[in-house]
Amino acid sequence: MTNDLFETTWEKVLNNIKENVGNSLYRVWFANLVPKVYNQGVLKIEVPSRFVKDWLEKKFNQLLLKSVKEFFPEVKHIELVVSNKPTLQIETKKSSFKRLTQTIIEKPLAIFDINPQTNLNPRYRFDNFVVGQSNELAFAACQGVAKNLGGSNNPLFLYGPVGVGKTHLLQAVGNEVLKNYKNLKIRYATTEEFTNQFINALKNHSIEEFRFKFRDIDVLILDDVHFLSGKTTSQEELFHTFNYLYNLSKQIVFSSDRPPRLIPDIEERLKSRFEGGLVIDIQPPDYETRLAILKVKAQEKNIVLDDKIYELIAKKITRNIRELEGALSAVIFYYSKNGKLSLEKVEEIIKKFSKDYYRKITPRKIIKVITDHYEIKEEDIFKKTRTKHLVEIRQCLIYLLREISQLSYTSIGQLLKKDHTTIIYAYEKVAKKLKNNSEFSQGIEILKSKILES
Ligand code: ADP
Ligand code: MG
Repeated sequence: MTNDLFETTWEKVLNNIKENVGNSLYRVWFANLVPKVYNQGVLKIEVPSRFVKDWLEKKFNQLLLKSVKEFFPEVKHIELVVSNKPTLQIETKKSSFKRLTQTIIEKPLAIFDINPQTNLNPRYRFDNFVVGQSNELAFAACQGVAKNLGGSNNPLFLYGPVGVGKTHLLQAVGNEVLKNYKNLKIRYATTEEFTNQFINALKNHSIEEFRFKFRDIDVLILDDVHFLSGKTTSQEELFHTFNYLYNLSKQIVFSSDRPPRLIPDIEERLKSRFEGGLVIDIQPPDYETRLAILKVKAQEKNIVLDDKIYELIAKKITRNIRELEGALSAVIFYYSKNGKLSLEKVEEIIKKFSKDYYRKITPRKIIKVITDHYEIKEEDIFKKTRTKHLVEIRQCLIYLLREISQLSYTSIGQLLKKDHTTIIYAYEKVAKKLKNNSEFSQGIEILKSKILES
């Protein structure tokens, strides 16, 4: 085969892959593949890094081989080889980098292109959502809903802690529907927006308009419904909105920081509506997925960093993808200003996003969040009263003091005026319960995110 013919055929392979995986995944994993040597049925393809090699082998092996075979039928196997070009700490195309730094400085929030009709942000799509063990069910459920509106997964209720991709997936459902069905009316709203607009409509006697807005639609996406807790009239309005849409087989998608049963102060009838379709949870991503997310995010910003930098960030920042993105942006920002970057510097920059940062969260703050959450007085924590409820709350507090502030058993003992063996006992009891009781562990996750957000 001539070189020219080879190149155009290779382009066809790449296009085929692009059609299969979408633009973003394509750019991250496939765009830089270079076919090198063909010998007796084996095609060697060069990949830019070890990371890309592992990922392709694990996730896209079949797809890659199939696409290659389609255009080069003589190929039986593929071998990925890591390019031995020296990697720079940071590589970047000058022009795009300039654009990037300006974007960071002038537009810290990418909220400028929200669609006014639907309230959707086109940035949140399925093709730039990285799928791993922690979110694959949620991802599949959302894709299913976008394909089969108003079907058996109605409503879809997605729950999980802060920053794990709930809003991203919910909006991706909307954007996918928007792309495939031009005539359908979609509305995304946070529950806070829903509630505020409802209250304003009551005040301004414009309730008809409000109802038109939330009922004359085919897909309603309501984010963070735990916000309804304790808000009786808004709950009632949502209940009627729900029934109206549901009876017309319109699709409804909800998200929340906890499962319906655990949202306090919500009417029973609304809870049972939330639970009436498919309820799915989404958890913080594992290391490998975090690494992949960093790559995708960097790629979206037209930046390629040394793998060691991604690895360091993914290792240090474990709970929340928003923080992961924040750390990445901070690192890129530093580089854009100073033009150089070392691993030590990266470590320093991301410190405030990482576990070390949690150590700085004071016990006082943790106590405050917990007493607010359980609606008890701070002094109850220190009293000798041993009701079951209080004992359990104290045990959770001890666990979180250790997990988040990383205090020693002895200092927790001093703080709560208790023997350190009591502290160890409490800590271990909670740790054990976390393993066996998923509802309890969800509760602890909620407390953690409240503390980290406060
Ligand atoms: P939540 O609504 O659960 O608090 P978000 O959906 O706002 O979390 O996610 C926080 C940020 O992390 C967003 O910028 C989102 O795009 C990004 N993100 C979360 N999960 C993923 C993922 N699996 N792949 C790519 N980006 C993700
Ligand atoms: Mg959200």
